[in-house]
Amino acid sequence: LPEYAFIGRSNVGKSSLINMLTNKKGLAMTSQKPGKTQLINHFIINNEWYLVDLPGYGFAQHGKSGREKLKCIIEDYILEREQLVCLFLLVDCRHEAQKIDLEFMEWLGENGIPFTIIFTKTDKITKGRLQENLKAYKEKLLETWEELPPILVSSSEKREGRDEILNYIEEINKSL
Ligand code: GDP
Repeated sequence: LPEYAFIGRSNVGKSSLINMLTNKKGLAMTSQKPGKTQLINHFIINNEWYLVDLPGYGFAQHGKSGREKLKCIIEDYILEREQLVCLFLLVDCRHEAQKIDLEFMEWLGENGIPFTIIFTKTDKITKGRLQENLKAYKEKLLETWEELPPILVSSSEKREGRDEILNYIEEINKSL
């Protein structure tokens, strides 16, 4: 089955977003190795695709060696999964583009991994501010990218963006 992975800096709202996306009858969770605490969790959605929860990155608490180890685990998954169709990179809509995210996108680009950005926590700012931040983010990306990746928006607090993200994935699945 096709896989769609979700990743972002710690505290970006990834768990909340995944809860929002999976929290519905008919969506079952599965883990590859039951009984073990997994760094990478798979949720099967409608028996059609896997939502893959990748560890949050760049968290100071992991320490330098911990971060390196996590980075390897994440990179191995991304490079080795043939089923991986698209990676969703979550960024907090309030912040300007973060170096660690930009570097990660560069790495994705170098390795030919398709990705889509999700602006999270949009309930925390006004609609006008969101548009300004989106514009600024795109301008920053255009400094290094010729073509912009798609950008979706979500608020787990208000349960917004759920249908858009699920439909987006469904459309890609249809084209596979
Ligand atoms: P993770 O570390 O990326 O998994 O982030 P979490 O999902 O645990 O969220 C981190 C913090 O942000 C928690 O306090 C959440 O309640 C809060 N949060 C997450 N998503 C939203 C959102 O859409 N809106 C608001 N206002 N807060 C959010």
